[in-house]
Amino acid sequence: MKNLNDLFEHQIKDLYSAETQLIKALPKMIKNSSDEKLKEAFKNHLEETKNQKERLEKICKELGIKPTGEKCKAMEGLIKEAESFIEEAEDDSVMDAGLIAEAQRVEHYEISGYGTAVRYAKELGHKNIAAKLQETLDEEYNADNKLDKLAQGRLNKEAIA
Ligand code: ZN
Ligand code: FE
Ligand code: FE
Ligand code: FE
Repeated sequence: MKNLNDLFEHQIKDLYSAETQLIKALPKMIKNSSDEKLKEAFKNHLEETKNQKERLEKICKELGIKPTGEKCKAMEGLIKEAESFIEEAEDDSVMDAGLIAEAQRVEHYEISGYGTAVRYAKELGHKNIAAKLQETLDEEYNADNKLDKLAQGRLNKEAIA
């Protein structure tokens, strides 16, 4: 990588890998959550995530690059962590509370990735692409907020007992 453009393309591919891995992992989070609202939130975000992946494919087309070729090792680690948590949880409400904690780590990672990508896109003069990335960034913020509200509302309290 020699310049900001190379770095930008690297970041886009990293995000593409992250979203692809998440699409495979979210069904397991859905399956293991018992609160209906939490299940619903994960299902919604799975649909959003598929759309985010397509958005990155369109961006890559516009940039004239392939979206593949990078492995996001951080997302791989976050997913492994979530999977080992699932193995360890022995109570439904603890499971729900812990799934939120793991999912919020994922959302925060994505928020930082898309935040950087939006900034680079603007600096490189890719106005359309910056707007597309911003849409995803907003969705990631929303997903995080929704999880936060679910945790505050009730799920953490249930896990205390
Ligand atoms: Zn990378
Ligand atoms: Fe995402
Ligand atoms: Fe990454
Ligand atoms: Fe997300």
